[in-house]
Amino acid sequence: MVTASVKSVSFYINGEWIKPAGRATQAVTNPATGEVLAEVPLATSGDVDHAVETAHAAYLKWRDVLVVDRVQVLYRYKTLLEAHAGDLANILTAENGKTLEDSRAEVRRGIQMVEVACGMPSLMMGDSLNDIAQGIDCKTIRQPLGVCVGITPFNFPAMVPMWMYPFAIAAGNAFILKPSERVPLTPSLAVDLIHEAGLPKGVMNLIHGDRIAVDALLHHPTVKAVSFVGSTPVAKYIYASAATEGKRVQALGGAKNHLVVMPDASIAKTVEAIIGSAFGAAGERCLAGSVLVLVGEAAEPLLNALLARVRRMTVGDGSRTGVEMGPLITAEHAGRVAGHIQRGISEGAVPLADGRNLRNAMSGYFIGPTILDHARPEMSIACDEIFGPVLTVMRVGTLDEAIDVVNGSRFGNASSIFTESGSAAREYTSKVEAGMVGVNIGVAAPMAFFPFAGWKQSFFGDLHAHGKDAVAFYTEQKVIMSRWFS
Ligand code: NAD
Repeated sequence: MVTASVKSVSFYINGEWIKPAGRATQAVTNPATGEVLAEVPLATSGDVDHAVETAHAAYLKWRDVLVVDRVQVLYRYKTLLEAHAGDLANILTAENGKTLEDSRAEVRRGIQMVEVACGMPSLMMGDSLNDIAQGIDCKTIRQPLGVCVGITPFNFPAMVPMWMYPFAIAAGNAFILKPSERVPLTPSLAVDLIHEAGLPKGVMNLIHGDRIAVDALLHHPTVKAVSFVGSTPVAKYIYASAATEGKRVQALGGAKNHLVVMPDASIAKTVEAIIGSAFGAAGERCLAGSVLVLVGEAAEPLLNALLARVRRMTVGDGSRTGVEMGPLITAEHAGRVAGHIQRGISEGAVPLADGRNLRNAMSGYFIGPTILDHARPEMSIACDEIFGPVLTVMRVGTLDEAIDVVNGSRFGNASSIFTESGSAAREYTSKVEAGMVGVNIGVAAPMAFFPFAGWKQSFFGDLHAHGKDAVAFYTEQKVIMSRWFS
């Protein structure tokens, strides 16, 4: 359904909104209704050249603005984001489908990135030591890199870009954001607000596009650093291409996160945590719990309580009050998720809840919460990222077996254990191969002042997202030794 209010989306280059004519476009739909919200233009390599040249010219001036003055823009930006948090959340829910409550929480998390980046005067500080040799003093300083690029996924269109540009800009870089072409409206409003905050033109730029735009950014000699968040195959490609070009790169990929439940876990609280983790944002989170590993006698009571809770879940348009789970991002993705469910059942898993019954019952791209029991490690539903509301259940006898299952995954983004035993939790957090680990926490999401990234096939690079790692990523370190002869 196309409505009269379909927006055309613009690029933001050199402080101006540009409506590029004659570019290929792609429809942006509301996944809860199928309504077309906007047409997004896809950048050409010429558009990328223009954005990079503009950003580089702006960088040459911006790097000389005092860091205490640079962060003043971010303080104003934070205030504007807070004033428009409701608008951002509404747009986010409309184009992504997650519930309004989730969208508001995401915007809040994004604002926290800005708050942390406002601390750049202290975060960028170096070290110094006098008299490292007779009369020689030594210090380290951090300097910006130049033009930095962010390529981001559809599932967190407000927060994930803010893992990047507030830190990059506060450190004195210029930035080009290429968000997911499926959700261009939220980042457009976020960028409009940084314009209003008074950021000098060219320091922040926004282009939309697909692989053509990404390739042009990856191969542009003036681009110094690339931050990517998205699926593992693309993360690998981005990492390899940008590193070959000699660029600094961090590429966060996909996930298959395990939730391990011990027999002594608190059933009611664990069930609530699992519901939020596996089915929150329709499972379209890189931190979503997607394999439930039940140890020993945990299985029956936990599954009974979980199923009872799943049956009470309200699925629908995320903009409606009381809805707990919205749709998937596109019809195509809903079809893919349905295919995963069918394959799991064909391979021998037992469906305790099958969300495919919602597919034809509702308009929009819905799949209900799905639980597939008695999975084995070699099954596709136990190995592959599904990125939908599908919880695979595996039963094991001991904590050691659970750890083997988790560490057998090629991914290593996040994992949690549910237990009342300190020693089991300690054993688990010490041995598990994952970048973000929770104890009695469904979604082990680090706050803005801690680093965020996984291990193994979930991350390619060295420096993680946000926290102190972001400061290191967006700056180059220099060591200066001085001696004065007078
Ligand atoms: P995606 O990989 O399809 O797209 C991410 C970005 O890459 C988009 O901007 C897209 O335009 C671009 N892109 C897509 N295909 C490309 C190609 N062939 N060449 C160059 N660029 C390309 O990911 P998505 O579907 O938007 O997001 C979901 C994925 O992101 C999931 O796998 C999820 O686990 C992952 N994710 C990971 C994290 C994390 O922190 N590790 C966070 C959020 C999402």
